[in-house]
Order: sequence, then C-alpha cells, then structure tokens
Amino acid sequence: MEDFYTIQGEGYFQGHAAYFIRLGGCDVGCVWCDVKESWNADAHPKVSVDEMVNRAKASNTEIVVITGGEPAMYDLSELTAELKKVGLRTNIETSGAYPVTGVWDWVCFSPKKFKAPHASVYPLADELKVIVYNKSDFSWAEEFANRVKPGCERFLQPEWSKEKEMLPLIIEYVKANPQWKVSLQIHKYMNIP
Ligand code: SF4
Repeated sequence: MEDFYTIQGEGYFQGHAAYFIRLGGCDVGCVWCDVKESWNADAHPKVSVDEMVNRAKASNTEIVVITGGEPAMYDLSELTAELKKVGLRTNIETSGAYPVTGVWDWVCFSPKKFKAPHASVYPLADELKVIVYNKSDFSWAEEFANRVKPGCERFLQPEWSKEKEMLPLIIEYVKANPQWKVSLQIHKYMNIP
C-alpha cells in the first residue's frame, strides 16, 4: 500500500527511526481502524520484493517495520530473508489473526477483538500491545499476557479517539500493575505518518 521512512510512534521501538512497509489487505475489521483504506488489497499496486528492499536500504534506516493491513496474511519468508541479507532489522506488527511466516527480529502482537488470534503467535511475540477502547479491555489484555512467553514486553495504548477518556485509566492501571507500560501514538503528536 505504501512505504515510508519515519519515526516509530508506538510500543517498544517508539522514537526510533524506522522504514515502514505497509502491506494492503486486512479482514480483521476493527471498527476504530485508522487505516481502513488498507483493507482492500486489490486497491493497491503490486510491488516486487527487490523494489521494497532497495527502497528501504536506500533510506538510511536500520529497522524495517512490516505492517498493514494485516501483513501475516502473506508469506513473508522471501521479503524478510532479503531484508536480512542487506543487514536490515525486521520487525512486524500483527494482530496474530494468521500464522506468522518469515524471519523476524521483533514481533509486535496486537490482538484485536474482531478476529481471534492464531495460537501460534503467542510464543513468537516479543511485545504485546493492547489497544484500550473501553474499560473491559484491561481484563481482556490480561488474558493475552497469560499466553505470551515470559519476558514479553506489555503495552497498553489508548485508542486514538478515546485517548482523553482511557489514558487516565491506563495510567492508574500501569501504576497498580507495573509489568505493563503505557504506549502513546507519538507520531500523531509529531504530525508524521
Ligand atoms: S487489524 Fe489493523 S489494519 Fe486490520 S482492521 Fe484492525 S487496526 Fe485496521
């Protein structure tokens, strides 16, 4: 769908320069999705792996973030192998709705209520990032915290349109449950993609 060099705004790598490759196609259907234009893969051009890798390599980045859409809908073995060959770090952001393929330095698992994750993602997740849209999402987040591996980083991030309402609750929750951290979409404050 698009690729661009920017600052990772969320989660563990927040604040790091990163080259984003956003793959078109998603059938998860989050009501609050902020990239609904990604859902229809056919609306976006097909781009070769070579082209994606060359553009990322030319950007000066050290980290490539593969996102979507739901990138795990695709076999990402070739793309990730080629990125690694040119010395780039491979990070993925996935809802876990499909088994993850490819070679990854970092797996950010962000489960969504609209399509259950595939159990194979739990041992792969280096980071669990739960979007908090309403109060019930805290107990929902804990269900996943119990499934991921020990040491998996845990983040609670307010859904953008609910930030004023949810952030105070997240702050109190993290103070009471310090194994969690707060994640904010800082790219939106910086007005960058
Ligand atoms: S998984 Fe991501 S891209 Fe797909 S609907 Fe949900 S927020 Fe949007």
